[in-house]
Amino acid sequence: MKKLFILLLVLIQSVGLMACSAEKSSANENAKTIKIAYLPITHSLALLEEAEELEKNNKDIKVELIKYGSWPELLDALNSGKVDGASVLIELAMKSRAEGIGIKAVALGHKDGNVLIVSKDVKDAADLRNRTIAIPHRQSSHNILVNDALSKNNLKIDDVKIVELAPTEMPSALAAGTIDGYCVAEPFGAMGVSIGAGKVLYTSEELWEDSVCCVLVLTDDFLSKRAVEAGKFVDAYKQAGNNLTSDAAKAVAKKYLNQKDDVLDISLKWISYKDLEITKKMYEDLQKRVVSYGLLDNPPSYEEFVDDSFYKENE
Ligand code: ZN
Repeated sequence: MKKLFILLLVLIQSVGLMACSAEKSSANENAKTIKIAYLPITHSLALLEEAEELEKNNKDIKVELIKYGSWPELLDALNSGKVDGASVLIELAMKSRAEGIGIKAVALGHKDGNVLIVSKDVKDAADLRNRTIAIPHRQSSHNILVNDALSKNNLKIDDVKIVELAPTEMPSALAAGTIDGYCVAEPFGAMGVSIGAGKVLYTSEELWEDSVCCVLVLTDDFLSKRAVEAGKFVDAYKQAGNNLTSDAAKAVAKKYLNQKDDVLDISLKWISYKDLEITKKMYEDLQKRVVSYGLLDNPPSYEEFVDDSFYKENE
């Protein structure tokens, strides 16, 4: 009887231990944190989805998302090494790299996903002459797409008035008639459509096949000192992008973006997150546009700026 009692005690204790270890692993307090900066736009959804998945699946790395309100603020954090990486406009990152900041692009933020929105009284692209068009920043694919739209219609950038405006102000500026069109990260284009202020003149793929816009960048410091985590992080990021069906994208966008359903429904039709590798061809196409439209004189080469070792290892 005494033996049975001791056996029972041992059993109870071991069940207790098992429960304890299960509890520990679900929290995974030892997971290594990677600090990544982002803006609340649909262009950063692959990163946001990754952060969610890593948390849920109890991996040994986790993402600490650090939200910024504008590109200049985000860039300050990235360039001063306050974060390990960021989801950022590629042209801004290229400029930083050209100025000697140690960062590398490791994956695309998204594919396609931009539109040129114009007011309803703009008849066609030729009618853009002497109109005012807003972009978020000179160093952006939105600037390139406006240039592409104009050159497709035998117009030059000097034929229109370009203004830099905060993305959140663009839909209302279009509605008020202060500007005649804009091109910017989403969902602000969709917002212009949703409030009835404008219409889509071009989607990005009509102007530029395999356009590059946002990228995931990591600092050289992080890449060299925490190489194993960097590999896991990039793998999980690409997987998260592949997992973003339109329903999954909407769910994560609703959690982080604070936007209305119809705005997200319109916007998410324009974008995809599958196969987020940066190919040499894509990058060289971007380089040509960056130089010919006067964004940068000496953009960094693919080898200098893109770390494609993550893709090669998997091939
Ligand atoms: Zn983008």
